[in-house]
Amino acid sequence: MKVLKFGGTSVGTIESLTNVKNIVDNLDEPAIVVVSALGGLTDRLISTANDAANGTEEFRQDMISIRKRHYDIINALVRKNLRDEITQKVNTLLDELENRYQGLSLIKTLPESTLAEIVSFGERISSIIIAGILDNAEHHDSTEFIKTEKWFSKNITDRSLTDRLIKDEFKLPLKKTCVAGGFISKDKNTGEITNLGRGGSDYTAALIAAALDADTLEIWTDVDGFLTADPRIIPSAQLIPKMSFVESMELCSFGAKVIYPPTIYPVFHKNIPIKILNTFNPKAPGTLITDFAVRKGNIRGISSLGKSSLIRIEGPLTSNVPEINSRAYNAMARSGLNIYLVSPPSDTTSFSMAVPTEGLTNALENLRIEFAPELDNEEILKIDGKDSLSVLAIVGEGIRQLTGLGSRLLDTLRCASIQVLAQSDAASETTLAFVINDKDVKESLRLIHYACFGV
Ligand code: ADP
Ligand code: ASP
Ligand code: MG
Repeated sequence: MKVLKFGGTSVGTIESLTNVKNIVDNLDEPAIVVVSALGGLTDRLISTANDAANGTEEFRQDMISIRKRHYDIINALVRKNLRDEITQKVNTLLDELENRYQGLSLIKTLPESTLAEIVSFGERISSIIIAGILDNAEHHDSTEFIKTEKWFSKNITDRSLTDRLIKDEFKLPLKKTCVAGGFISKDKNTGEITNLGRGGSDYTAALIAAALDADTLEIWTDVDGFLTADPRIIPSAQLIPKMSFVESMELCSFGAKVIYPPTIYPVFHKNIPIKILNTFNPKAPGTLITDFAVRKGNIRGISSLGKSSLIRIEGPLTSNVPEINSRAYNAMARSGLNIYLVSPPSDTTSFSMAVPTEGLTNALENLRIEFAPELDNEEILKIDGKDSLSVLAIVGEGIRQLTGLGSRLLDTLRCASIQVLAQSDAASETTLAFVINDKDVKESLRLIHYACFGV
């Protein structure tokens, strides 16, 4: 049994949905199909919510076009015998959505829980419509089996509960194609609608695939597969026919948007292969991600992650500070921030970490509290952060063994007068990372892609 996920790029228009129908209706056996909201709709739902909460009347116009977009698809593609029933279900949801906007325009604030409910309408509606478009298909409500719980300020999935509920929901072997909305979930304690984060439909599909021990997880999107770089920045990027789970995890964590990073863990643990396929070119072979031994020492791809900052802890005696690494990591964990990379001191006087800019202020506060004694006795002179940076990653299993790769790529950037503010330590066998200014990202990617792949 396969799980197929079609992203917003694949379910945005009548034409792309016709491709989805051809792909799914021609499968040899029933599958589970996870779908996103219509392309671009989640952004639209959010901006309309902001308009309504700001007290402007524009949301009424937006609602008219949101309704029309859905009705046009229903009228063009839903099977005739289901059209009235589906129009009615969708209408009920659209009315509810309009009521939420109406409410916001009165209270003039946008509570987080209301926004979560508003964005959920995208997948709640698209999944009902797509179940009506596909042959012999039934709709499943993902909020009934994808369950989250609060962890500090975040919603995280309760994996064991979710696994159990997925197994109860989908009885194998499947008799019909099952269609479920991606991204959406419910809090297991409060029953409030939550979600898995932007781009999270991939993760829904992975949770289902892992719980049911699917044969494959197919991510259908608008490119021929995982490419050596983001094709919007590097048009000459090449298809990667095969890659390891670890390589895909690293590239996605460092900004390759093609898969939402948490997606890879559940299927990796079950050793379920992922295929990246193109809805607009379904015969193309795509990319196969498995744990087979890829040839080590090959650069697989490059990516970049914006909205990054660099924290520097500086002082003449920094290297003497007891347990500076673990204390800095703990302070970052208390701030709820990931660390993208840690840079070894170029001399003994500084220690730097690249982190997401969001939450930087809070992280600096926590670090200053943690190292208050050392700041006091001047072992550390300052702890500060620089924003508007990006992390550039070069990924491939075993690339650390490529002697001189790091210095060759650094030279490439320096020759073009591109400043490298920090580089990763030698901890990762798979990833080399540089911190650069945002303004240099495109040119750096272009130069590094050429240096690595010759195009
Ligand atoms: P979907 O709506 O199908 O989830 P996304 O927009 O989330 O699609 O992801 C697909 C997009 O990811 C592609 O259109 C491409 O522009 C972008 N992308 C970024 N990096 C890569 C890469 N290395 N390989 C392929 N696509 C990439
Ligand atoms: N619709 C959601 C988003 O745009 C989830 C997804 O597409 O994966 O982020
Ligand atoms: Mg996506």
